[in-house]
Amino acid sequence: MSKKAQHPETQAIRLQRKRTNELEHATPLFLTSSFVYESAENMAAAFSDESLEVNIYSRFSNPTVDEFVGKVCALEGAEDGVATATGMAAIFSTFMSFLQQGDHVLSASAVFGSTHTIFTKYLPKWGITHTYFDMNQPQTIEALIQPNTKMLYVETPSNPGLDIIDLALLGDICKRHKILFVVDNCFATPAVQRPIEYGADLVIHSATKFMDGQGRVLGGVVVGREDLIHELYLMVRNTGPSMSPFNAWVLTKSLETLYLRMDKHAENALSLARSLEGHPAIKQVKYPFLPSHPQYNIAKKQMRNGGAIVSFELAGGLDAGRKFLNGLEMISLTNNLGDSRTIASHPASTTHSKLSEAERAAVGITPGLVRVSVGLEHVEDILGDILQALEGV
Ligand SMILES: *Cc1c(COP(=O)(O)O)cnc(C)c1O
Repeated sequence: MSKKAQHPETQAIRLQRKRTNELEHATPLFLTSSFVYESAENMAAAFSDESLEVNIYSRFSNPTVDEFVGKVCALEGAEDGVATATGMAAIFSTFMSFLQQGDHVLSASAVFGSTHTIFTKYLPKWGITHTYFDMNQPQTIEALIQPNTKMLYVETPSNPGLDIIDLALLGDICKRHKILFVVDNCFATPAVQRPIEYGADLVIHSATKFMDGQGRVLGGVVVGREDLIHELYLMVRNTGPSMSPFNAWVLTKSLETLYLRMDKHAENALSLARSLEGHPAIKQVKYPFLPSHPQYNIAKKQMRNGGAIVSFELAGGLDAGRKFLNGLEMISLTNNLGDSRTIASHPASTTHSKLSEAERAAVGITPGLVRVSVGLEHVEDILGDILQALEGV
């Protein structure tokens, strides 16, 4: 059976690039900083080759890291990829590879907190400007393109507001204006949404989240067009935000259950979102596959399911948010997400606390907003804990 004939679900489990002479069944862990050569000539040849063909040093490439990247490429339908130490390293390396002084980035305003910090604090140091657009007003985007606009950047669903934007529409705009289209696909994962099918040039992940799925290791990955990835590879190879082989080994194993996990996460999340809608302590529940979501039709078009994240706005605001979190018995209070354990967080006081109140409001983070990363526990236990905590707000 050819690789092409296999479903992504199968490739997530079966794809294996490297085996040692032992013909081990599971993916081997190459925990080594460098690789040896049989001769001076082989060593010289390795150093003259900038491709990934020969392993030299694990900052440049490593077989275990290659395994992980290869799987993500197969799942996203990408030509090639590069792994990084964290999701932020993936994002920052992408910016550093493709932006230079005088360039402009058009980005959705609803981006991950640290991504916002890169746009507002660091990129201006190198003379790179940005303009934010409102994900709920996609018709305004094209008018914001400047002659120096180099990149369009978006997260969909966004964190933590769960706004959705039409990827096909953005793909079309970027193609017509010859702008790089970059998507942070962390919240959906390739098991739910494949942005390359809609024209994305590069897709970024924080592998820390659902790719690991159990809150153990940090990681990041960028996949996409081969020519772009080669540029990015050289940047990562030389500047050093490379992925640890150990983390790649953990992540590669985790990808085997990605589809299974994302289906169950989404089943629990939809059930929870439906149960919470209309609760008197809650002003609004947001979940991409609830018909009340403003971009429900777009979500249905480009996502296989609604994902694992449910957010809701407590009628009682900031005070109710604190009381709610303190009232939870099983659900973990932590700012990570994408874990088999259900997690609740309060963005206004944690991930987005560096933003001003006005900036938070602009990206839909109200004082009473609670984000739940719905885990794999029995849904009745998840719902039960949330309902009992809501009694105390
Ligand atoms: C967590 C996250 C990141 C950053 O990833 P790290 O692995 O924590 O560096 C980027 N984007 C999104 C959407 C995230 O949720």
